Amino acid sequence: MKMTSLLTPTLKKAPAGWQDPGVIRLIRSGYALDFQNEEWNLLPLGSILRENVAWTFLHALMEENFQQLDSLLYKKDGLYALAQRAVQSYRDLPLNFMELRQGLLLLGGIETASGKEAQQEIVHTIDNILQNLNLPSIVMSDETLGTDGSYVALKASDQYIAVENGVACSSCGWTGTENARIEQSKPYRTEKEMVRQEIHTPNASSIEELCEFLHIPAEQTVKTMFYMAEVDDGWRPVAVLIRGDLHISEEKLALFLKVKKVRIAEENELMSVMGQKPGYLGPVGLPERVCLVADISIEGCSGVVTGANKPNYHLTGVTWGRDFKTKHIGDVALLREGMNCPRCGLELQPFLWNKVAAVWSEKSDIEGIPYQDQQGQTEKCTLWKGWIDLNSILTALAREKTYPFGLAPFDVDIIVPSVKDEVAMNLATNLYLEMAQNGIVVLFDDRNERAGAKFADFELFGIPVKVVVGRKAAEGIVEVHYGEDAKEMQAEDVVCFLSSLLNDDDESL
Ligand SMILES: [Zn+2]
Repeated sequence: MKMTSLLTPTLKKAPAGWQDPGVIRLIRSGYALDFQNEEWNLLPLGSILRENVAWTFLHALMEENFQQLDSLLYKKDGLYALAQRAVQSYRDLPLNFMELRQGLLLLGGIETASGKEAQQEIVHTIDNILQNLNLPSIVMSDETLGTDGSYVALKASDQYIAVENGVACSSCGWTGTENARIEQSKPYRTEKEMVRQEIHTPNASSIEELCEFLHIPAEQTVKTMFYMAEVDDGWRPVAVLIRGDLHISEEKLALFLKVKKVRIAEENELMSVMGQKPGYLGPVGLPERVCLVADISIEGCSGVVTGANKPNYHLTGVTWGRDFKTKHIGDVALLREGMNCPRCGLELQPFLWNKVAAVWSEKSDIEGIPYQDQQGQTEKCTLWKGWIDLNSILTALAREKTYPFGLAPFDVDIIVPSVKDEVAMNLATNLYLEMAQNGIVVLFDDRNERAGAKFADFELFGIPVKVVVGRKAAEGIVEVHYGEDAKEMQAEDVVCFLSSLLNDDDESL
């Protein structure tokens, strides 16, 4: 393609308001107009780049026997409808599918009853493809995706867009999201049983104020939070208890309650259930109709401090089983730095990450799809689903200096520093045509612009190879720049050289 017929509104300066180098790069290089509502508004070069990323995945997944669909995976029960039609016997399984949908590559599969390892395999495949794109990825455990589910992530910095908090163990290498499973959380316990007492605690409605007032650690307090859980006929109030130094995960809570969504109760809702505002609520003497959930950090606690359900008063010496109790005990806390690694038990460090892909077991209200196993017995299929976020991969690629061969919109940029130099222009034009004929995707910067502007645009575009047709054109010599290397060579040798460079790169993929 010739540069004069390409729409690439590059910017001299970084666009204002962004810190993410990938976002800045894509806008500045004219690959995208802007980034709005977590979506890229791509221009021609950005569209080619994303299409190339999509094809890289489609191609690699095809080799793993994935088949392409058009509109079934994005529909809620599309995969079920397909399984009902397509699966009778174990011989029909496994089936793996993919579907391109607005910047996402949706994934889904149907497995035998025992075929749970399929999800780990697909996570592994995605991981490999990303490694080949020079994007080393990390697998993040997350309870809300189910026991077999996980996210595929890229390490992020706090400048990046869509950055998520997570934790990593520097000892065993385990990584997880804030919603990863917490195996153990010790409740606070006093050695001797304490008498429960109501004490006056004015202006101590927060955990910090309370701890300062009573000179106790936050672990010795119990937070009582009121949520509304979305059920079939509206919203139901739920009181949640958690150790004072921990925080509640709304996603884990919704999962535990088997509801779609939970949200913090509003003040008027709290008033109608409890007759008071937040700040001094507690588990002792709660109305029967309030469902009480305890985080695992509460079960068996003793001698702790809770709200007294009375403004400006707290209870001390509160003990599990004697003063309050609930059957609903679950892991509903956010996993944060300083807590223990679920694998090796050592202290976790903060870890920022970007979501790239997710894979999980599909659960539905619809009854399982039956099939005949090898012994002629009837079994039920396992269904899994996932997605790969092409947009976040695009942003990640744009943080690197150049795009890899095959992904970059062009393999080569031919630059003639002075278009007035007729000999150079002729040589460059011939080279351009020869490259195109030989299947090299080439951009010819034929603009009547300063050489400096052309070189600057080349850097911004991230094209892997630059061929400069300049002073030695009369001798038929051009310069070929790729990575950190540069070579002078006869123009007639360039196509052969580039072809071998491209093929080498293909082999390394
Ligand atoms: Zn560990």
